[in-house]
Amino acid sequence: MYSFMIRWSLNFFQKLKDFFLKLWFPSRIKFVLVNEVPSEISSRVVYLEGVDIKDLWFAYLKCPCGCKDTIMLNLIPDTKPRWEYVLSNLNNESLIPSINRKFKCKSHFWIKNNKIIWT
Ligand SMILES: [Zn+2]
Repeated sequence: MYSFMIRWSLNFFQKLKDFFLKLWFPSRIKFVLVNEVPSEISSRVVYLEGVDIKDLWFAYLKCPCGCKDTIMLNLIPDTKPRWEYVLSNLNNESLIPSINRKFKCKSHFWIKNNKIIWT
C-alpha cells in the first residue's frame, strides 16, 4: 500500500513537473529512455532506445517540420552514420551532429539543449 502511494505521488510530481516545464518551455524537446520504441511516437519527444544513457542503440523522433515521418538515428559507437546523445552539466540534452534529411521533406536541423534549431 505504501509503495503504491509513493509510486502514485512520484508519478503525480513527475506529471506536475512536466506540466510546468511545458508551460515555461513550450518548445522544449523531451528525451525519454525506452527499452523498446513505443508503436505510437509523440512529437517533441526523442525516444532513446537502449539499456541506459551510456549504452544507447537508436534514437527515434517525429520530424519537427510536420511531415509526420519518423526519423531513426543510429547511436551505436563505431558505426556510420552515427549520432551522439550529449547530456550537459545543466541537464540540457542534445544530439550531434545535425539531422540533415536528404530525401522527402529535406529538413535540416539541430537538436541542441532540448530545442530544435533550424539551419
Ligand atoms: Zn519533415
